Amino acid sequence: MPTIFTRIANGEIPSYKVAENEEYYAFLDINPLAKGHTLVIPKHVEDDYIFHLDDDVYLGLCAFAKKVAQAIKAAVPCKRVGVAVLGMEVPHTHIHLVPLNSEADLDFRKEKLALSADEFAAIAASIREEYEKL
Ligand code: AMP
Repeated sequence: MPTIFTRIANGEIPSYKVAENEEYYAFLDINPLAKGHTLVIPKHVEDDYIFHLDDDVYLGLCAFAKKVAQAIKAAVPCKRVGVAVLGMEVPHTHIHLVPLNSEADLDFRKEKLALSADEFAAIAASIREEYEKL
């Protein structure tokens, strides 16, 4: 049974896509800590623990995440883009990229933002636009 994130990458479940290549997929977190909170996943490997990944998949994921973070930084006003890996909920390796203005912005216990579909779509479009420029 494929994970929900594999189904998202395959287009079977909708997502707010921000970037994609042959191996990796990036989309907005549906319960964001901040506007532009993005998840980055490998498409063809579901392993639920990032440090189980083969080096090539791991390094490729990090390189893809770096490029997506550059696009987020250009699209979303923030001091920097923070990185977190939890995997407590979805058993498919993913990196969280979160626009930060303070340390507290990366506190996963805080209340998540409630954004409208239009807001999600607009944020995703602006990150996609910046990604295309890189
Ligand atoms: P964790 O596995 O602890 O890193 O948490 C999983 C993250 O995936 C949470 O931040 C969720 O809000 C997010 N998430 C779960 N389902 C979806 C979905 N269908 N679309 C976007 N984000 C999701």
